[in-house]
Amino acid sequence: MSVRVGLIGHPLGHSISPHFQQAAFDAIGLDARYEAWDLPPEEVEEFIRGLRTPDALGANVTIPYKEAALRYVDRLHETARFVGAINTIVNEGGHLAGFNTDVAGFQAALKDVGFDARGVNAVVWGAGGAARAVAWALVWRKATSITIVNRTAVRAARLRHDVSSTLTGGDAGGVRLRASGADDPAAIGALQVCDLVVHCTPVGMHGSDEPDATPFPVDALNPRALVVDLVANPLQTPLTREAAAAGHRVIGGLPMLVHQGAASFELWTRRVPPMAVMTAAARRAMAEVS
Ligand code: NAP
Repeated sequence: MSVRVGLIGHPLGHSISPHFQQAAFDAIGLDARYEAWDLPPEEVEEFIRGLRTPDALGANVTIPYKEAALRYVDRLHETARFVGAINTIVNEGGHLAGFNTDVAGFQAALKDVGFDARGVNAVVWGAGGAARAVAWALVWRKATSITIVNRTAVRAARLRHDVSSTLTGGDAGGVRLRASGADDPAAIGALQVCDLVVHCTPVGMHGSDEPDATPFPVDALNPRALVVDLVANPLQTPLTREAAAAGHRVIGGLPMLVHQGAASFELWTRRVPPMAVMTAAARRAMAEVS
C-alpha cells in the first residue's frame, strides 16, 4: 500500500520540505508520497481528523498552524506540551500523536558546529513558535541567561512568563530569563554581552516584507557571539552575511530545517534518516526556489 504524508500550512509558497522528505522516502525504498497541503484555517481540523486512516503516516505542520494543530491530536509528546506547539503529527494506528522536532533540530544544528549552549548568555530574537522551541532548547541545555527580544514587547514577556511559570514557578530551573521590546535599550545591552544570538523572525527572508534588512545592528553584537539565523531561504541572509563579514561564526537556517525534518522522518518510519540525501536534496531545492 502506498502511504501519504505531507506538510500542512498556509501559504506554503516555495517550501523545500516536500523535496528533501520525498528524497528520503525514495532513498529507503518506502512507497510514500510527501505532499504539500496548503489549507485555509477552516479546513485544518477536518483535514487532520482524516490522518487517522491506515494510508496516512502523519504530517508536518508549519506557519500558521503549529499552535492550533495541538488541539486536534489525541496525545502530545512531552516536548510539544512544554513548547506549546507541534510541527509533527504521527498516525499511531488511528491515534494521532503530536511532536515538536524544532527543538531537536535546533539542538542538532548547534551540535554540528560543536557549540555547547550550557552556561552561555543567549539572546532569542523573536517570540513566535520558533522562538518558543529555541528558548526551551536553551533552558533544557542549561544556558545561564536567556533574553527574549521581540518587536511586540508583550509577546516576549508572555513567552518569558510561560517558560518560567511552567518550570519552577519563577526561576526556570536556574536559568535567568529576561524579556524586552526590540526598541528597548536593554535589547542592545543583551546583544553586547551575549555568547549566542538566535534570530527567530522572518526579517531577511526571501519574499518577506524586509528581505534586505538585518533584525538588529550587527555591530552591537559581542564580537565573540555565535550568530544563528533560523531563516533558511535564502541560504545567506543579510544577517549571516554581515555577521560573517564582521568575523562571527554563523549558522544559517538550513541545518535546523533538515534536522527537524529528519527527526519527523524517523518518527514516521522508525528508520535512520538518510541525512546526506536529505541535505543534498534541500540544497538542490533551495537553488531552484531562490
Ligand atoms: P511566528 O510564530 O509567526 O512568529 C513570528 C515572529 O517574528 C514574531 O516574534 C514576530 O513578532 C516576528 N516578526 C514578524 N515579522 C516581523 C518584522 N517585520 N519585524 C520584526 N519582527 C517580526 O513564526 P515562527 O514559526 O516563529 O517562524 C519565525 C521564523 O523562523 C520564520 O522565518 C521561519 O521560516 C523560521 N523558522 C525556521 C525553522 C528552521 O528549521 N530553520 C524552523 C521554524 C521557523 P511580533 O510578535 O511583533 O509579530
